[in-house]
This record gives sequence, structure tokens and C-alpha cells, in this order.
Amino acid sequence: MKTCPQCNTGYPDSHTTCPTHGVPLNEIRDLKPGMVIHQSYRIVRKLGQGKMGLEPFRRLLNDKRFAHAAFIAETPVEEPGDEERNVKVLLSLVK
Ligand SMILES: [Zn+2]
Repeated sequence: MKTCPQCNTGYPDSHTTCPTHGVPLNEIRDLKPGMVIHQSYRIVRKLGQGKMGLEPFRRLLNDKRFAHAAFIAETPVEEPGDEERNVKVLLSLVK
């Protein structure tokens, strides 16, 4: 993912410049509070640092109050295939 240094808007890696400001985008490795993704989703704050197990994820993913909401889950990626494994685990929690 990349962000504009002027407006803090996030763009996919395929973008090289901000469409609004025309400046080169910075590559980022971590989502930071205040960032806006696709001009729609603002990162408000980071929730926790892991180690909470799967039950809280199961509750969030199945809570009807959040059915309309998009969220980004940052999960540990240390080895090739970790992202795919993490997505499979999250999908397995959905009832
Ligand atoms: Zn910009």
C-alpha cells in the first residue's frame, strides 16, 4: 500500500502518484491512525497487539451490529503463505 504525503490518502501499490496532488506516493508497511483508505475509510486507532486468541474475532465477525461495517485485520505475516492461512482461519470463524 502507498499513501500521499500531502493528503494522507491510501492507494494500491499500482499507483505511483496522488491523483489529487500529483506528488509521488510513499510506500507504507503499517497502517497508522489518521490515514484514509480509498477516500472512504479512516484509520481511527490500532486495536490491541495480538495475543487475544480467536474467540474475540469469532464474536466480532458474527455480531450483527457490525454486519454493515468494513474492517481491516492486521495479522502477523512471518512466513510465505501466512496471509492466506490467516484469511482461512478468519473465514472459518464465520457462522
Ligand atoms: Zn494527495
